[in-house]
Amino acid sequence: MMFKLCLLFALSLTLTLALALVATPALPLSSDTCSCPESCSMKEELGRGTWRLLHMIVSHNVRTEETESLFYDFIDSLSQLYPCSECQTHFRANLRDMDQIEMTEEWMCRFHNMVNEQLDKTLYPCPVV
Ligand SMILES: Cc1cc2nc3c(=O)[nH]c(=O)nc-3n(C[C@H](O)[C@H](O)[C@H](O)COP(=O)(O)OP(=O)(O)OC[C@H]3O[C@@H](n4cnc5c(N)ncnc54)[C@H](O)[C@@H]3O)c2cc1C
Repeated sequence: MMFKLCLLFALSLTLTLALALVATPALPLSSDTCSCPESCSMKEELGRGTWRLLHMIVSHNVRTEETESLFYDFIDSLSQLYPCSECQTHFRANLRDMDQIEMTEEWMCRFHNMVNEQLDKTLYPCPVV
């Protein structure tokens, strides 16, 4: 009798564990998913959000020596941490091609246009200072 009870308990435990494993939600997409082909929607969403943030940063901050330096560090860090390997490669190559990093709407627009061009998107008319 005791043996049967133990066996029943062991079986129900195994079943519970198996059900728990099946019901575990999938892990979030890894950053590497962004190296997938152009159709990757995460890459698009991430790009739109990042561009919005970057354009807002340059238009909402007064340009001083301190903010310019913070901006430089921010862009430099972002280019190394951006969670999309293909974009990161473009990001760094484009930074190398720019003469410098400037916290201005014009610079950000030109920088964004470099990626637009690489992706065959329409170039945006940039403000001329
Ligand atoms: C640093 C970086 C590197 C990227 N590299 C890649 C890559 O290698 N491969 C890839 O597939 N995707 C890359 N992306 C994503 C890509 O740039 C787009 O964000 C994505 O394809 C969605 O495009 P979209 O047409 O919605 O407009 P987005 O380019 O995301 O732009 C959003 C909005 O900004 C406005 N806009 C567009 N251009 C300008 C401009 N020059 N100045 C001001 N406003 C503008 C428009 O109103 C546009 O709708 C990158 C994104 C970033 C931030």
